[in-house]
Amino acid sequence: MELTQKISPSLVNYVRQCPLRWKLDKIGAPQIPIYVKEADLGFVFHNIIKLYFQNIHERPTSKQIRSVAEKMFEVGYTLDTMKIKAKRLLENFIQFETNRLKTWRVYKPEMVEEKIEIGKDKIKSVLNIDVPENFVTIIDFYGDKTWLDWKTGAMPYMTEGLQFQYGFSKLMLELSEHMVEKAYFVSLSSGTQIEPPRTTTGWVLQIIKVVLNIVQNERFRPHRTHLCNYCPYTLFCDFSNTCLFWGV
Ligand code: SF4
Repeated sequence: MELTQKISPSLVNYVRQCPLRWKLDKIGAPQIPIYVKEADLGFVFHNIIKLYFQNIHERPTSKQIRSVAEKMFEVGYTLDTMKIKAKRLLENFIQFETNRLKTWRVYKPEMVEEKIEIGKDKIKSVLNIDVPENFVTIIDFYGDKTWLDWKTGAMPYMTEGLQFQYGFSKLMLELSEHMVEKAYFVSLSSGTQIEPPRTTTGWVLQIIKVVLNIVQNERFRPHRTHLCNYCPYTLFCDFSNTCLFWGV
């Protein structure tokens, strides 16, 4: 099978999470109905962040941070089902931003939810790797060479998926002439932040090669983990002799 999607952290992490699920999605296999996806809340939130930074001053007061954030959240989270969690995200967002205002040299980000795309020809000439599609990602890049990613879901510890997201984003920034010296994942549901460990370009490319190998050689095996509990394709999978707490 040829990969026809641009290569991004979400694509790579999705294929690695469960190759079978990615293929079933791709071919439009029938899904069992499941409840509202967490991803919907995240999508709304990232639009709100963009709006927030479009409306906030270069150097706001703490009061302005609160009033602009509250206004943007009010516009975004109109559904009652989202409002309870949105309230928690809002308070943690205001707290993080107020603290950032006091402690960071530059407040306003250079890039908010900005799409960076690097062509496959440039990737070949700079990184010496053949890829079937361009690299693409959405970046939040703050002052002082700082990369930051907001998370709406729980983020209790650093996973390889998060590490890849950071490594890929750092590579994309470097390919577009930006230096990255600091990086943070910020979880707004728990109010915590994690600094990802350093990654190398070689490690990022190695993971991309693994994913290309899965797709091009059609190695769409099921990968049973606790994430199967949220998968709409469970009817395609045999769970006899499987403990989803530990995977197989
Ligand atoms: S139920 Fe689990 S193993 Fe089966 S496709 Fe979904 S994520 Fe993959």
